[in-house]
Amino acid sequence: MPNKILVFMGPPGSGKGTQAKRLGAFLNFKHISSGDLVRRILASDTVDQEEKKEVEKSRQGLLVADWLIYKLVFKEIEKNLQIGHGVILDGVIRNLEQAEDFFKFFTEKKWLKEVKIVWISLSDAEAMERLTKRRVCSKCNEIVAYSLETKDLSACLKCGGELIVRPDDNVETLTKRLKIQGTAAQQPILEFFRNSGVPVVEIDGRSAIEKVLEDIKQVV
Ligand SMILES: [Zn+2]
Repeated sequence: MPNKILVFMGPPGSGKGTQAKRLGAFLNFKHISSGDLVRRILASDTVDQEEKKEVEKSRQGLLVADWLIYKLVFKEIEKNLQIGHGVILDGVIRNLEQAEDFFKFFTEKKWLKEVKIVWISLSDAEAMERLTKRRVCSKCNEIVAYSLETKDLSACLKCGGELIVRPDDNVETLTKRLKIQGTAAQQPILEFFRNSGVPVVEIDGRSAIEKVLEDIKQVV
């Protein structure tokens, strides 16, 4: 039986979002991405202005405030675990303070033994290479990761829309993102969980998507 709270971590470009989604479908676990929760806020016209203003930051490569992440994510976790469902947290814990607060939340709820961290490793150089080459559908926003299978695609496989490089996938913005969210920045978080007795498993993110998924299935 896999642990019920799987925390996916890794630098941008490591493919953790894709893997989290696929593993979620495989295990029938709820995939919780702060990116998706944040986009839901942007698309909604009933949310308050303070939340929306906070969310706009993420468009400039900055991180959304902790209070908003907690509000959104704690609720989702509780909802699922109360009915016996597992969750996969994707890109949710992004700094040491958040790690400590999530740890506290898991401890209070007595869910600590259900937590496992899955770290998908990728060097900053490889991350930069992948991110500057990835594309997005101009119609449906589907992200098309750079790979041998996708490099010659010109139209979206889902809707036929034109594939373009996102304006913020440039070296300058990505350098900023990697500094805030890259491997070095995330080490203290991994260290904190290890020291707190939470299992941390490492997966080599350089492999092909299918191989990475198989590797993850082996360790959860
Ligand atoms: Zn599309």
